[in-house]
Amino acid sequence: MVRDFITSHSTLWNGKQVFCLATMGLFSGDGAGCAARLLKGYGAEILGGLHLKMPDSICDIKLLKRSPEEDRALIKAADDKIDHWAEKIKAGEWPEEGLRAYHRLAGLLGQRLWFSGKTKDYSDKLNISEACVGCGSCASLCPMGNLSIQGRKAVAGGRCTMCYRCLNSCPKRAITLLGKKVIQQYNCDMVLKNGR
Ligand code: SF4
Ligand code: SF4
Repeated sequence: MVRDFITSHSTLWNGKQVFCLATMGLFSGDGAGCAARLLKGYGAEILGGLHLKMPDSICDIKLLKRSPEEDRALIKAADDKIDHWAEKIKAGEWPEEGLRAYHRLAGLLGQRLWFSGKTKDYSDKLNISEACVGCGSCASLCPMGNLSIQGRKAVAGGRCTMCYRCLNSCPKRAITLLGKKVIQQYNCDMVLKNGR
C-alpha cells in the first residue's frame, strides 16, 4: 500500500525533504528504510527515520494481542519517544532508525524473507462467516471500498490491504484474515480511556 502510494505519486518527491516515520507491532527492521529507499529513488532528500511500537490491529493472531493496559503503556512510550526526538530535531539531530545497512539486513532476515509473500500484493483472503448479519458496518469503514453488501451478507473483493479495520469493528466477529478466529477486537476508545 505504501509502495503503491509512493510510486503512483512518483513525480511529487523530487527535491522534497522527507522524514520517514514507521509504526510497528512487534518489530520493524527497516520499515522507515523501505519507504526512504523508494523516495530517494524519486529524488527526495531523506532527513531521518523513526520507528514507533504501537498496539497491533491484527486481532485474529493470539501472539500479537496485548491487554488494554499494555497497549496504553505502548502509546505512552511512543508519546515519550516522539517528545524526546522532537527536542533533538529542534537542536539539529535527526534519528536514523531503519535507515542503516544493518537495519536493512534485520528487515530482510526478520520480516521480508518470511512475510513478503503475505503482504506483497493486495489480499483476496478475507473470510466472512455465516455469522454475518449484513449490517454494513464493515463496508462503510473499508478504506479500499473492498466490501459490499449483497443479499444481506458482506462480500469481499481482491483489494484488501490487510488494515484490519473491518475485523476489529464487526459486531458479530464474522471476519477473519490471517487467523481462524477473532480473539480480541482492538478498540481505540477502550485503549485510550483513562490513558494519557
Ligand atoms: S460488519 Fe460483520 S456482520 Fe456487519 S456486514 Fe460486515 S461482516 Fe457482516
Ligand atoms: S482489512 Fe481493511 S482493506 Fe481489508 S477489507 Fe477490511 S477494511 Fe478493507
